[in-house]
Amino acid sequence: MSRVPELLSFAAHVKGFMPPDEGRALFEAGLAQRTRSTWLEVGAWCGKSAVYLGAAALERDAVLYSLDHHHGSEENQRGWDHFDEELVDARDGRLNTLPSWQRTIADAQLEDVVFGLVGPSLVVAEHFAQPLDLLFIDGGHGHDVAWADYHAWTPKVVPGGALLIHDVFADPADGGRPPYEVYLAVLASGEFTERGHQGSLRWLQRN
Ligand code: SAH
Ligand code: MG
Repeated sequence: MSRVPELLSFAAHVKGFMPPDEGRALFEAGLAQRTRSTWLEVGAWCGKSAVYLGAAALERDAVLYSLDHHHGSEENQRGWDHFDEELVDARDGRLNTLPSWQRTIADAQLEDVVFGLVGPSLVVAEHFAQPLDLLFIDGGHGHDVAWADYHAWTPKVVPGGALLIHDVFADPADGGRPPYEVYLAVLASGEFTERGHQGSLRWLQRN
């Protein structure tokens, strides 16, 4: 029996910044990919998006790498909007989302499907040679970080593969600029065609 309904409702209760309708769209994008292919998300946090994508990966017999240094982005640090005291490790005062991420993937029984890559995005990208059938960019949203992720990871997406970008806001009142500017650049490159959108999620496909 398919575990999809159970996983989608489980994901909705995981800590994070992914509304259920956008999570569902991530899942659908995953389902559209080839079987036994390799997927990667930049930005894992506590594993919420990893469960949505993982549910699709399970269906497709694919694997998802979920990459994060697990110390949070700028906007997750103390004093910022998305700070969460519960995620601070008292031993060094730093955010550490790895234990929560690991708990999420274990509880979802996705340990054979979703694998953690713990490290800085750009260094990992330099040493990651596997072509990707699906790339989800949801790491740091600052200008330099967002563009660096785009340049480092997007070339690894195969023709027909999916590129998903989160937190794309056309109206500056709704959120920061960099993911939107990256999205515009992807379209302007002529290398990708838009397949769909849901909330702040954009789904593109390499031509
Ligand atoms: N995709 C997740 C949310 C990710 S939040 C979900 O929807 O559930 C963004 C994450 O990017 C944070 O956990 C932060 O630690 C990570 N991040 C930011 N910059 C990074 C970098 N340079 N390398 C690795 N991870 C980074
Ligand atoms: Mg996001």
